[in-house]
Amino acid sequence: MTEPENELTISAEVLSRLHRIHRQLSDLRGRLRRGPVQVQAREKHLQQLQQQLEQLRQQTKTAQVAADHKQLQLRSGEEKIAKLRKQLQEAKSNKEYQLLLEQIKADEMANSVLETEILEALEKIDALKRKVHEVQAQVEKVQEDLQRVRAQVQEEQHIIQEDIQRLEQELVQVETFLPEQFRERYQRVVRAKGSDGMALVDSGMCCGCYHELPPNQVNLLMMQRIVFCPSCGRLLYMEQKSS
Ligand SMILES: [Zn+2]
Repeated sequence: MTEPENELTISAEVLSRLHRIHRQLSDLRGRLRRGPVQVQAREKHLQQLQQQLEQLRQQTKTAQVAADHKQLQLRSGEEKIAKLRKQLQEAKSNKEYQLLLEQIKADEMANSVLETEILEALEKIDALKRKVHEVQAQVEKVQEDLQRVRAQVQEEQHIIQEDIQRLEQELVQVETFLPEQFRERYQRVVRAKGSDGMALVDSGMCCGCYHELPPNQVNLLMMQRIVFCPSCGRLLYMEQKSS
């Protein structure tokens, strides 16, 4: 016994139109999904840059505090030396004089080390500030880019949604040409696989999986019968002969 749908016929033109609509719909739906992904990628990049900027600002601040502290140390070191020099002038004995002189020498040495450290710290702060400016400029650039892409995607999404609506209406209209008894099976296939649920047959080959079809299947297709590819399960239709 043959299944009743084996006796059904569908014009290849209807199947070809349906396939085109499904292809366009999956393309549009893909673009609809990609739009927000493009925006999200930029949002993520911006967030990373802002975090980096915040870290650099913190580092600059910390370095500045450390440098300020060293400057204060240096100043009090200098004050101490001035005091010692005064004491030196008023030294009562040679021993006291020598001791003070050694103390001054030691303190001058410590100050000299501090001066070097301060110089290095200031250089580091300068480098950090340059980096802050650099990242700040990057943040602004990405912010502008994000705004532009967001607006562009928003506008595109609107157009794509309209196109999808129009195609869905067209789809429903073309689907009315399908035999009643076949519609449920067709819907199952396209709902599960979208445009990949259908394939063109060109020169006896399924264009979905590139397997050659048995001749009897090709014959059935030529009689506009319903044929699914034995290899990939796609609903098949014959190439439209342009005359
Ligand atoms: Zn196939």
